[in-house]
Amino acid sequence: MKTADLVIIGGGIVGLATALELQRRQPKARVLLLEKEPAVALHQTGRNSGVIHAGVYYAPGSLKARFCRDGAAATRAFCDAHGLPYEDCGKLIVATDPAELPRMEALFQRATANGIPIESISATEARRWEPNIAAIGALWSPATGIVDYAVVARKMAEIFIAQGGTVETGTCVIAGRESAQGIRLTTSSGPITAGKAVFCAGLHADRMAKAMGLAPDFRIIPFRGEYFRILNQPADLVRRLIYPVPDPERPFLGVHLTRKMGGGFTVGPNAVLAMKREGYARSDLSPGDLAATLGWPGFWRMLVRNAGPAVGELAASVSTRLYLKKVQRYAPQLTRADLAPYRAGVRAQAVARDGRLIDDFLFLESRHALHVCNAPSPAATAAIPIASHIADRLLGAG
Ligand SMILES: Cc1cc2nc3c(=O)[nH]c(=O)nc-3n(C[C@H](O)[C@H](O)[C@H](O)COP(=O)(O)OP(=O)(O)OC[C@H]3O[C@@H](n4cnc5c(N)ncnc54)[C@H](O)[C@@H]3O)c2cc1C
Repeated sequence: MKTADLVIIGGGIVGLATALELQRRQPKARVLLLEKEPAVALHQTGRNSGVIHAGVYYAPGSLKARFCRDGAAATRAFCDAHGLPYEDCGKLIVATDPAELPRMEALFQRATANGIPIESISATEARRWEPNIAAIGALWSPATGIVDYAVVARKMAEIFIAQGGTVETGTCVIAGRESAQGIRLTTSSGPITAGKAVFCAGLHADRMAKAMGLAPDFRIIPFRGEYFRILNQPADLVRRLIYPVPDPERPFLGVHLTRKMGGGFTVGPNAVLAMKREGYARSDLSPGDLAATLGWPGFWRMLVRNAGPAVGELAASVSTRLYLKKVQRYAPQLTRADLAPYRAGVRAQAVARDGRLIDDFLFLESRHALHVCNAPSPAATAAIPIASHIADRLLGAG
């Protein structure tokens, strides 16, 4: 039987940052990370927008607001320390309709309350900065950047292993139980016992909590985010990231124009219900995953509350013309011929029984384990402070 002092389940950026932090705090401990896939960072961590969020959007006082702001700095420091590339390109949040101006002002107040540098700029100034973008006003967030989180996560794994940690890929945790002494896991590679465990299972967070005998009052509902790569455009199409003003009726940030590390641009992501938790193609369907979604009362309550936006997102998913219309509001020169499909991602979003999309990061604790239950965007940016928070809760502050 394999044994470890500390075991982490999930080789995404949250699990890897946690493994590194636990190892830093307890250098003599045997720390083991289990990942079901053949490599780390294959799910949310390797399929996102690659934005280092500054922390403009999040409710003041929330974990998201604090961990995002600190995480943006920690991500840059990690990249600097290990020679990884990132770009401080900044972001413009552009209003294209007068109805968005008060919402933009509210975002300005929120960013200020969060201690994030933010500046209001006029339409003329926005046009001067980004001649290819239409805007009637904009917010400038200089502290936003881009990075490849899969590269960051793989570097974390490399350091963790070099410092004596173990990453076991191809091992799926199936079940587990706690005893007075610790944890016993049933895995696809046999049983494992450990003193303490941290579950960072992303799209499977609720299943892992249930498999450990907990009764979580939320379910992970998977939302696919579809992107297009932009073709036929000059390298200076935009110099900054371009985001719409988010619609308060919609939980996600809206389709944005993103510069990519290594060159080029994407637009996306939209947000449509996925019929499979790790289903990246529109036709992917898992009867078990779909039954879990449809069987959760909170899903139906969420649908009732968000029926209009849900139909709009679905329509734009099946019709590239409708998708393009969202982008043309701020980038009018782009046409259908400029969009080529790009790899999609699936967000793990925890939904409460009452249909509320759980907004903040959420953790659940038992005697010897801690579960990361809700770590949607900006959790890639925030992974390092999340890891520190987990270590404080698991081992005591220090
Ligand atoms: C479309 C999209 C765009 C996004 N854009 C951004 C952005 O620009 N900036 C930002 O900060 N955040 C962004 N995010 C959010 C960010 O990617 C995630 O919050 C972050 O990657 C979560 O990391 P994680 O480690 O929790 O999850 P994951 O990366 O999903 O990792 C979980 C891991 O657990 C493993 N696992 C699950 N179950 C088991 C099991 N039973 N046994 C063993 N292993 C298991 C999985 O295989 C997986 O590797 C975006 C997300 C999406 C989907």
